[in-house]
Amino acid sequence: MNKDKIDLKSLTQEQLEGFLSELGKEKYRVKQILRWIYQRHVTDFEQMTDLAKLFRAQLADRAFVSSWKPEVVETSSDGTRKYLFRLDDGESVEAVRIPMDEDRATLCISTQVGCAMGCQFCMTGTFGLTRNLRPEEIVNQVCAALQDGPVGNIVLMGMGEPLHNLDNVITALNIFYADDGLGYGTRRVTLSTCGLVPEIEELGERVKVKLAVSLNATTDEVRQKLMPINQRYPLVELMNACRLFAQVTRQRVTFEYILIGEINDSLLDAKRLVKLLHGVRCKVNLIAYNEHDGAQFRAPSEEAIKAFQSYLLQRDIVATLRASKGQDISAACGQLKSQVEGKQET
Ligand code: SF4
Repeated sequence: MNKDKIDLKSLTQEQLEGFLSELGKEKYRVKQILRWIYQRHVTDFEQMTDLAKLFRAQLADRAFVSSWKPEVVETSSDGTRKYLFRLDDGESVEAVRIPMDEDRATLCISTQVGCAMGCQFCMTGTFGLTRNLRPEEIVNQVCAALQDGPVGNIVLMGMGEPLHNLDNVITALNIFYADDGLGYGTRRVTLSTCGLVPEIEELGERVKVKLAVSLNATTDEVRQKLMPINQRYPLVELMNACRLFAQVTRQRVTFEYILIGEINDSLLDAKRLVKLLHGVRCKVNLIAYNEHDGAQFRAPSEEAIKAFQSYLLQRDIVATLRASKGQDISAACGQLKSQVEGKQET
């Protein structure tokens, strides 16, 4: 039945204004509707009691508001919560709530079912790409998590490469930013990419968002092995795009660097990294590789992590070591999905 109707969660504020003007309604009605949907999580037009009865009936005739509940929730002893959502075509995606302090959390959301990028250290990379998520499917992960507690920051760092689904991601970002809707400031949303160079440039021109780049190596040879995208966009091109993005947006770029034992964790790597980052306004997030059963890589030693971080800090590069949260649940991207689907197959 819903197939002929429009999901209001798929529309930015501007698009919603256009939809309402087709119904002959004034612009300010948008604010009322946004508040019902995103602040009070109401999906039934009948309950939107400050709208006239006739208007509610018109809306119900032409539109609907989708809403998600997680099919599986796993909670770690450190408070990290992982949600698995079932989509209307039977596919599934994950989001992870990571507690930052007592009452604030960061939510990591997915942008595609699977991923085409094939990064070697990532479980999702092994699934291949099934399909892009629609804007409302990106937005609904946030709405569902908000009903489980406040979410201070959003990171597009779950399943999928956001820049490989650029139009839908930009629509979703604009929905996050609507003042009377979810009301996220642009500084509270971070998009993480494996390094699609033309799309990084396009992103900077089309929307405001913080950029994180998954770097993970300091030579093309090693990066190519870890991340096949490097064959298309080698380090020199990637770093130029990042330099430009930082200039155009006047924002620091965050570089994610997964330290993998004896692959990219040497002092020589730290030296090369400093050179690569020259002239880019940035900070570095170091993440120690999380070794698990069947993993093809090793965790770095404590000494290697410390030496790497100190080298960067001594050269005035902001370098934080991100704690790996949710160790006792399927915390790495794609793990919960693979567990649940695995169980279903048996
Ligand atoms: Fe895709 Fe990100 Fe995994 Fe790479 S790390 S395969 S871009 S989901």
